Amino acid sequence: MTAQPQSAETKNVRALVVANWKMNKVTKEAIDFVEKLNAAWDRLRGVDVVVAPAFPLIGSVARRLKDPFGLAAQNVHSSASGAFTGEVSAKMLVDVGCEFVLVGHSERRVAQGTTHAYGIGESDDEVGRKLKSAQSAGLVPILCVGEQLVERDRGETEARLNAQLAAALDGVSIASSRELVIAYEPVWAIGTGKNATPEQAEKAHHYIRARLADRFGAAIAAHLRILYGGSVKPDNVVEIGRCPDVNGALVGGASLDVEAFVAIGEGIARARERKG
Ligand code: PEP
Repeated sequence: MTAQPQSAETKNVRALVVANWKMNKVTKEAIDFVEKLNAAWDRLRGVDVVVAPAFPLIGSVARRLKDPFGLAAQNVHSSASGAFTGEVSAKMLVDVGCEFVLVGHSERRVAQGTTHAYGIGESDDEVGRKLKSAQSAGLVPILCVGEQLVERDRGETEARLNAQLAAALDGVSIASSRELVIAYEPVWAIGTGKNATPEQAEKAHHYIRARLADRFGAAIAAHLRILYGGSVKPDNVVEIGRCPDVNGALVGGASLDVEAFVAIGEGIARARERKG
């Protein structure tokens, strides 16, 4: 029987917003952002906030980012150590102050020459190995899943989400809902200015939560944070954030501007007030 997540509890989960800076900013710009973010802490009381800078910026951000804001890396290698030139291990990320790491971002999953000019071609299985490597070092993985436009058009969205979740979470166990975050990021909405409608987002989030309930049990699944990502902006965040199964946002382009990012955090908090 399929376990049903408890929606009354889901709406009380504390929301999370994550700034994915991708390959943007140099040290001076990162410091300027963090100082302004720190100064805005009072406006962000209603939401958890995490910043994911590129590797070279992590140390500078870690030294300045105020508690309770959190730090994430954008990628991690699947092996604990070894001869992997240019790669970074989970233990190194913990050592420089990261608590979270993105795994399976679509910009790393897609193969070059397909739908994206840039692409590493990371397979679902490799994403799973990265997730386990992160977990074993004590990092909280933010697992990104999402369908391509062609998959949505063929009616294969749920099959794709199921395959990504199954491969990444195979053999994974968690004792608490704070050990894992999921980000639903429809690939066609990332960096395109075309966000999913609240109905599309809620349907996908609800499906994901049901699969998480099958795997981890209804009680844990009800409290797992499932973020929406894909062209989130201050002017569309409240509408998306009101969906019962949306527990926050993973923000790319709009997170480069501190004022826009803070406005998104405030918007998520406001949307949650309306949920209750
Ligand atoms: C992302 O890269 O995770 C993302 C959601 O980007 P954007 O907000 O720019 O669509």
